[in-house]
Amino acid sequence: MYWGLRSENHRGHQSHGFLTYYEEKFHVYKNLDLVPKLRSSALQEWFGRLPGNVGLGNVRYTTSGKCDDKSLLEGTQPVTASANGLKLALSFNGNIVNTAQLRKEIEPNFPSFAYDCDSDLICRKLLLELKKSRDLTSAVSTCMQSIDGAFSVAGITGNGDLFAFKDPYGIKPLCAGHGPDGATYVFSSETVSLDMNGFVRDFELEPGELVKVSENGFERQQIIRNPRKAFCAFEYAYFARPDSRFDGKYVYEIREDFGRNIVREYPEIAKDAELILSVPETGDDSAMGVHEESGLRWERASRRHRYVTERAFILLNDERFSTIDRKVNILGSKVNGKRVIVTEDSIVRGDTTKVIIEKLRRAGAKKVYMFVTFPRIIGPCFYGIDMSTYGQLIGSRHEADEIAKIIGADAVCYQSIEGLVNATGLTRDQLCLACITGKYPTPLAQKMADRMKTKFLNGYQEKGRIYEAEEASPDAD
Ligand code: SF4
Repeated sequence: MYWGLRSENHRGHQSHGFLTYYEEKFHVYKNLDLVPKLRSSALQEWFGRLPGNVGLGNVRYTTSGKCDDKSLLEGTQPVTASANGLKLALSFNGNIVNTAQLRKEIEPNFPSFAYDCDSDLICRKLLLELKKSRDLTSAVSTCMQSIDGAFSVAGITGNGDLFAFKDPYGIKPLCAGHGPDGATYVFSSETVSLDMNGFVRDFELEPGELVKVSENGFERQQIIRNPRKAFCAFEYAYFARPDSRFDGKYVYEIREDFGRNIVREYPEIAKDAELILSVPETGDDSAMGVHEESGLRWERASRRHRYVTERAFILLNDERFSTIDRKVNILGSKVNGKRVIVTEDSIVRGDTTKVIIEKLRRAGAKKVYMFVTFPRIIGPCFYGIDMSTYGQLIGSRHEADEIAKIIGADAVCYQSIEGLVNATGLTRDQLCLACITGKYPTPLAQKMADRMKTKFLNGYQEKGRIYEAEEASPDAD
């Protein structure tokens, strides 16, 4: 569990948590920041703290709740809930959209409940349903039908039984695998943590599927069959590690194809450029594709500080600017006087890209063309990526040429949506493309997004994450 979680620390660096089940009790350890290094002298202490042979782990970055240290720690998963002798522990990846409605339903049943984040809501909702039906399958089925949002969940019942399930659209990844002993079973967001442990990947959970683990292995149940799937396209471009596999293909290979696509889509610019530079590290993967397709030299002239591990995208506003400036260094003489293609995974706010371009200009770059693999982000995400307002997205109010001017590039060349979809090997109906098309797979998210977009375009300033603030706002209608 430790190495699995550590290899997925890129999915959340603000806090981490471990939970084990032993002698009918949950044992929990939670802390802020990255999963810590383990000193061999402290191993016994860890084993004492977390006894048992079944457990859950989670790394988190906030897409719901507050971001001060106290709230971060309170919102750290795995979470637990208990009522009437029943209890449950749960770790989840995703984001709930109908938070307000669930809070109304749950609060009267848990008098001491104070909302910290959506993982608490989903845990308590599942426990309530379990209390009613005394049957995990039926409780999960009700949750799948009544929760709007993305949820890939792993949990442990009060009897110590491990289970996992995915929302009916399968927005966030979750795979199952087994260990070399043939008797250890695991669920994980990405395959990389299975690889790190020498485990074998067995399958990706289907949208709407519940999987229980027993001594006989996995027991799979398709609870809801949904013809529309919606796997997050941003996982391919940015979020997942390149050495993870979705549908048997490394994310790295798909990113290479993204790079090839952009060269084909912007041949004149590729012809004018003299060399390729990548924004380390997610731009590295597509740079190889750009290099192969264009024949241009890929110069490793932007270097990243290996031990500044924060991901600029998921940092809080005030931390982001200075971190990116200190994290990436440019080898000046390599770019001086050159026309440069810079590969980048995405432009969200535009501020990190702007810093890189400024650095390149200072180093003497004559032209800077941005090749961006994720198409222009025009709308917020409701499903677990913290780009949750229109106001923070440069692409929500500017076209590519305007963005180029703002960030100081000579051109911003986004990969087309078609190119991205084809490279994944999936169809439009199998992907979530909501933040780049404005078409949300779940109904409440669509309603909220449309309503807020109209207000935003009329000059309204959003007060916070749409799914947390808008419903409650008196200005909502
Ligand atoms: S809206 Fe964008 S970031 Fe969010 S789940 Fe969909 S594709 Fe991923």
